[in-house]
Amino acid sequence: MHVISSISDMIETRNALKGSVGFVPTMGYLHRGHLSLVEAARKQTDNVVASIFVNPTQFGPNEDLDSYPRNFERDEKMAEEAGVDFIFYPDKQDMYPEGYASYVVPEGLDNHLCGAKRPGHFRGVMTIVLKLFNIIRPTDGYFGQKDIQQARILEQMVTDFHLPVRMHIEPIVRERDGLAMSSRNVYLNPDERKQSVCLSRAIRLVETRFRAGQRDTAVLLSEAEKEIQRQASSKIDYIELVDYHTLEPIHRITDRAVLACAVYFGHTRLIDNTILE
Ligand code: AMP
Repeated sequence: MHVISSISDMIETRNALKGSVGFVPTMGYLHRGHLSLVEAARKQTDNVVASIFVNPTQFGPNEDLDSYPRNFERDEKMAEEAGVDFIFYPDKQDMYPEGYASYVVPEGLDNHLCGAKRPGHFRGVMTIVLKLFNIIRPTDGYFGQKDIQQARILEQMVTDFHLPVRMHIEPIVRERDGLAMSSRNVYLNPDERKQSVCLSRAIRLVETRFRAGQRDTAVLLSEAEKEIQRQASSKIDYIELVDYHTLEPIHRITDRAVLACAVYFGHTRLIDNTILE
C-alpha cells in the first residue's frame, strides 16, 4: 500500500493505473463501517483508493472540526489490512489554497434532515467529493447508507453533472448492540454509550411496525420518538420520514421511504436511518 500526500503525485499515479478504480472517501479514524466499503471496492474493482481528509468546509463554525478524532498510523494499518492499494492523504492547504473560491451546492435535497440542521454542510461535502473525483477519477465510488442524505445528494450530483462514476451505497455496519458505527462514537461517555442504543432500537421498532403493515408516518414517528425519549440523556435533533428520492417528508408510505434521525447524547450528535420499502 502506498500513501500519497501530494495532489500531483495522486494524479500521476492514477494515470498509470489499469482497469477499474474503486474509491472510498473518508475522514479517517477508520472503523468496520469504512472497511465494509473497502471490502466492496476490493471485490468489485481492480484498484482501491481510499482518501483520508477531515474536510474543514463541511463543518459549521460551532461543530467539532478541531476535536474530530484523528490517528493516521492506526488508519494506515487498518487500510492496508483491508486491502487498500493507495491512501490519498492530502493537506488542507493543498486542497483549499489561498484564493480558493469555488463551491458546489445542492438544490432542494438539503431542505430537510441534516441539511436543515447543518447549513452549508452539504456544500462542503459536494465540493470535496467533486474535487476528489477529479483528482482520482474513480470508475466506482463507495458510500455508506449511514449518511443516507449525503449518499443521495452525491448520487444526484453524479447524475446532474454527467460524472462517469458508478455509485454504490453500502449497508450500515453496526456494533453488536445495534449502535451504528461512527468515528464520533468515541466521544460518548459510558453512560451515554449505553443510552445511545435507543437509536437502533427505535429504528428496529419502526421496521417491525412497517412490516406488520403500518404505513402512517405520524404513528411510526411517534413510536420512534417515545423509544428515544425513554433515555434521559437523549435530545432529538430531528426524526423524519421522507421519500427516498426527493428526501421530502411524507404522510403515508406508498413508495421507497427513509426514516432518519439525529439525536444528541450530551454534546455528541449521532445519526441513524432505515430504508422502508
Ligand atoms: P466518514 O469518515 O464518517 O466521512 O465516512 C466515510 C464513509 O463511510 C461515508 O460514505 C460513510 O457513509 C461511511 N460510513 C460511516 N459509518 C458507516 C457505517 N457504520 N456503516 C457503513 N458505512 C459507514
